[in-house]
Amino acid sequence: MNEKKTRFVIVGFDGLRPDSVKKDMPALAGFISRSHRWKNYLATFPTETYVNHPSIFSGFRPNRHGIIANAYYDRSLPDAQSFFVGSSVQSILTHESAGGLIEVPTLGDRLGHAGKTLRVICANSSGSTRLQHIHADRFDGHLNCCVHDMDHILPASEREALQSRWGKGVELKFPDFEGTNLIADIFFEYELPRGLGDVTILWIGEPDHSSHEFGIHAEQTCQARKAADAAFKRVLDWWNREGKDNGVQLVVMSDHGHGTVAMHYDLKAKLCEEGWKVLTGREIAAGRPSEDCDIVMVGDYTLGLWLRQPTQENLTRLRDCLMQIDEVGMLFSQPKNKDSTEIEGNVPGTFSEAVVFSENSRGPDIRVTMRNNPSTGKLVMGHSLEIGTGNHGGLLPQEIHSLLAVNGSAFNSNPAEHTEPAGHDDFAFTVMNVLGLLQDTNALEPLPQARLLSEALTSPSGQDDRVEEETITIREGFFEQYIRRVHYQNHCYVIEGARAGDCTIYALKEGN
Ligand SMILES: [Zn+2]
Repeated sequence: MNEKKTRFVIVGFDGLRPDSVKKDMPALAGFISRSHRWKNYLATFPTETYVNHPSIFSGFRPNRHGIIANAYYDRSLPDAQSFFVGSSVQSILTHESAGGLIEVPTLGDRLGHAGKTLRVICANSSGSTRLQHIHADRFDGHLNCCVHDMDHILPASEREALQSRWGKGVELKFPDFEGTNLIADIFFEYELPRGLGDVTILWIGEPDHSSHEFGIHAEQTCQARKAADAAFKRVLDWWNREGKDNGVQLVVMSDHGHGTVAMHYDLKAKLCEEGWKVLTGREIAAGRPSEDCDIVMVGDYTLGLWLRQPTQENLTRLRDCLMQIDEVGMLFSQPKNKDSTEIEGNVPGTFSEAVVFSENSRGPDIRVTMRNNPSTGKLVMGHSLEIGTGNHGGLLPQEIHSLLAVNGSAFNSNPAEHTEPAGHDDFAFTVMNVLGLLQDTNALEPLPQARLLSEALTSPSGQDDRVEEETITIREGFFEQYIRRVHYQNHCYVIEGARAGDCTIYALKEGN
């Protein structure tokens, strides 16, 4: 180890549900039990990867960072550029050059600005990796490396160095044993020998890859979790041996959880049957002109609908149509005006996106989460994933609840399970505070306004720590939906949301 200073090594397990740790991941379970851990660590809506990572890597929620879905339609851009798909580096570059993508300074920007380093080694898609540190080529000593696509490594000098040793990286197979192992190999054979950066991200793509492919409880996904645990154990052994006493803070986390696909429903076909002309974002990207349709649809479970002519009449007609469908779960629209705190959005009977902190000018006119059941974690979606596999994006507790545990000299020496609610923005805010990135008078604006996780720091704030829960509901005719939120230290967190009333869809009930 080079000189003793405060650094972070953050090990991410994409899509890991906290309730899957005990059975398959003994090293991780052991570390968590000896660390500060949060019982209510919560992903943000929609509970998708490309939405939650910018929160982890900026300290802002989606309403501010602007990545409002894994994929979305930007009606302000010409058709050929209008479809954003986060897994594609090319799409990221197109939208970045069309006026900026992430609308706030990121962790990588702040570290670079302060002369510190962020190094990302990730086994998600190359686009997902890119979004963890989109400007890694702007700062000396930074790194953005997808182990499945080393042609896209930033900056060029790092690309050459890593490719001379590992070529193009490893192909993504399911389970992603090779990607998981390569992350640990690069950490031990490349990062440690040259000297650890200020913040190092080791982001394992499992169990998310295998959960989507096989299901969260499938044997292959158990094997994926076990391999992720073995890779983590290598890092943990090193940390116990030398990292811990040299200022390294070790963090384990996940970005969101998973529900289970129990039934398919083709919402696009249904809307077409009702007389709407619908094109998907992908169809427009492939050359179908947007003027040929009434609605652009993007997504398959939590999905966005952009009307060509979003008049109140059209919006109401579309709402009525959606509310007639049993398989539709929740409906959202943009707030009535910019600072509106009303729970109803500008489409009567739907929740304002501001209630779940996802309102943004890029957002859809109506956002839909297909029907799901919080008591079973089962959900309805289109045909893009098989029945029995895992998916996420809605407000099921199984999708929202995520993993966070931290240990190291910057945190107090009495690790405990914290019951205070916490989110990715709070975590990022806390990391930035510990590293002194926000206290500087030159700090990049705007500053995040998230909650410092003082319950784990050396000097807890001693604030009043009452957690107050509320349930808000909205109803239009027979269509009713609810959202449960908690308030803590002037911050608000969403813990569950769904369509209210008895779910009549048999496939979503227990015993299927
Ligand atoms: Zn994810």
